[in-house]
Amino acid sequence: MITDNKEVHKKLNKQGYRITKAREIILTILNKSPKHLSVDDIYLAIKASGKNVGTTTIYRAVDSLTKAGVIRKLSLLNGRASFKIINGGMSEHHHHLICRHCQKVIEYSDFIEDEIKLIKKLETIVSKAHQFKIEDHQLSFTGLCKSCKAAPSLRGLIRPLAASRAFKKESFLERG
Ligand SMILES: [Zn+2]
Ligand SMILES: [Zn+2]
Ligand SMILES: [Zn+2]
Repeated sequence: MITDNKEVHKKLNKQGYRITKAREIILTILNKSPKHLSVDDIYLAIKASGKNVGTTTIYRAVDSLTKAGVIRKLSLLNGRASFKIINGGMSEHHHHLICRHCQKVIEYSDFIEDEIKLIKKLETIVSKAHQFKIEDHQLSFTGLCKSCKAAPSLRGLIRPLAASRAFKKESFLERG
């Protein structure tokens, strides 16, 4: 288990964070997941592995791990958040499209050239205006995903219950 999270441990130790049992279990789960996981997702994954860590402990652990800069927090529209391990390296950098309806998170890293240029320009402007040294950014766009946009139930404002359940199921499976 320890070898899995070696790099992360080094980073934590350097900053004076202890490797608690809960942090270790959470790191292992996040290390295995290519997707963002919410506290509920983490809770279920821990349970599925036969261990038991309460949600309060998970909340506290992800908070510390985020502060330590080893995991990244993504705030969702429903006031919740999801987490992903930071592996380092630029290949990991991506932007988000968050669907306000099904809460699906779409990640993309196939940036359009114009997008990169505009962001660089934006960083320069903001950095000058606020005299802030920008090191990184997180970019999330919110709106409606392809399937929600096409859903007939959303064209009218009434959304049948069955459809809403189906969307929830889909968002759980496809959350990225
Ligand atoms: Zn970016
Ligand atoms: Zn959607
Ligand atoms: Zn992401």
